[in-house]
Amino acid sequence: MTISIVGAHWIGGEWIPTARAASFEIRSPHDGSAVGSAPDGGVHECEAAVAAARATFLSSDWAHAPRLRAQVLSAQADSVEDGAEPLARLLSIETGKLIAVARAEIAAAVSELRYYAGLARTIAGRTLEVEPGVHSHLSREPAGVAGIITPWNAPAILLVRSLAPALAAGCTTVLKPAPQSSLFHTAFMRCLAEVRALPHGVINSFCERGSEGGEALVASPDVDVVSFTGSSRVGKRIMAAGASTVKRLNLELGGKAAGIVFPDCDVDAVAPRLAAAGMILAGQQCTALNRVLVHESRYEAMGRALADALRSMRVGRPDDEAAQIGPLIDAASRDRVARLVEENAGRAVLRGQVPGGVPARGAYLEPSLLAVEDLASPVVQEEFFGPVMNIERFATEEEAVAKANATPYGLAASVWTNDLDRAFRVARALRSGTVWLNDHNKLFPEVETGGIRDSGFGRLHGVEGLNDFLSTKHVYHRMGRVGAAA
Ligand code: NAD
Repeated sequence: MTISIVGAHWIGGEWIPTARAASFEIRSPHDGSAVGSAPDGGVHECEAAVAAARATFLSSDWAHAPRLRAQVLSAQADSVEDGAEPLARLLSIETGKLIAVARAEIAAAVSELRYYAGLARTIAGRTLEVEPGVHSHLSREPAGVAGIITPWNAPAILLVRSLAPALAAGCTTVLKPAPQSSLFHTAFMRCLAEVRALPHGVINSFCERGSEGGEALVASPDVDVVSFTGSSRVGKRIMAAGASTVKRLNLELGGKAAGIVFPDCDVDAVAPRLAAAGMILAGQQCTALNRVLVHESRYEAMGRALADALRSMRVGRPDDEAAQIGPLIDAASRDRVARLVEENAGRAVLRGQVPGGVPARGAYLEPSLLAVEDLASPVVQEEFFGPVMNIERFATEEEAVAKANATPYGLAASVWTNDLDRAFRVARALRSGTVWLNDHNKLFPEVETGGIRDSGFGRLHGVEGLNDFLSTKHVYHRMGRVGAAA
């Protein structure tokens, strides 16, 4: 499993070498062995990256060249597609993501790049004659320099879903990946940044172990918009830190997704699908199904079926093509989630353990299912980000909606029923950026996603994904009327 890879910063069109002393080690979630080392940047690298992005925004034609931007995005899609298999393998090795899931993520990133390559050529303003001889021209201009800060759990697609609309809109960019995925990020950057048509300084990127560089990015007066994907805790800090420069923000934060299962569902058919929705990325996905809300008439049966489905899922190493649950990102996360399960042992319908036969320093944990009645419990209110699901009961449709809405989050939810009127009625009542009917975790480049409340604001993917990277400018023109007195 061990390979030796070195991460790097990309600033002003150059790879920046780092002294060995200024680097940090990345360890494999599978067995804790060293995978490689990444450069430990910070405020200095951030400032250099922002300066390059600012200078390029002001001095190049990038902001005014939609065809060039489309060409760059298409070439990036080709480049990532050409490197798909090695990229997927590195993603899997560094983050513990199952290889099949890693391949799907790279394919999704390619699709997203192609989608925004098309949209880059469609950005148009409008003109109206508000009074006789008075024209108002409204142009959609790029916001300027975009800072993009991303988490480790899906470092390809979560980067691209901010970067591609930023580039399509004509912004220049500074990227700051999570430390845990720095090696993959560097390899991915080689595909994105070494595209011949890309002007130097349009994309800049630095890695760091801590958060000083990220904080400097948010605080910089030369950064016009920050697109942040990560935890609600850090998102709130970024919102506070952005206040001094009245920073424009797009915040894609945490979640605690509920799935409401009505009594007309076939419990045995639905349970494995719910289990898979909860165990996606070993539960480390913002939209993963965390809370299964079941009608009381099906509660006992669903508890049994869901526990059986979870128990039968194969926990395996990242390169195991048949595995369904891989390791968590690191042993500390595994220990944190195992402790939560331990603390709630009295609620456990299924209590996951560290599985036998895995490397001692691997971050593996079997799935757990907790039965919860108390809405105020941290088990309901807090994001676990691990292989743990809740089962909760409801008696009426109103109670199901009230319970689903009873957390501070509002990212994603699902409704499971064959009654279409009920499905749409409940979808309308749920306080959530996305609601899936009879499915879960379905995300597409064409379709906006995002949260409300503690899950953030702004939308990524789709045409609205451009919005946070564009500003509307009004140019007023009094032309007079032909034949009218001067
Ligand atoms: P995190 O919030 O700890 O870190 C996210 C990024 O922010 C990393 O790059 C980190 O280095 C950086 N960072 C940390 N402190 C910072 C600061 N003070 N200023 C600037 N940058 C800072 O999140 P994580 O553990 O990497 O990822 C998991 C979280 O991300 C979960 O809460 C998950 O729900 C969320 N997430 C949300 C979405 C979404 O679309 N809503 C998608 C994926 C993950």
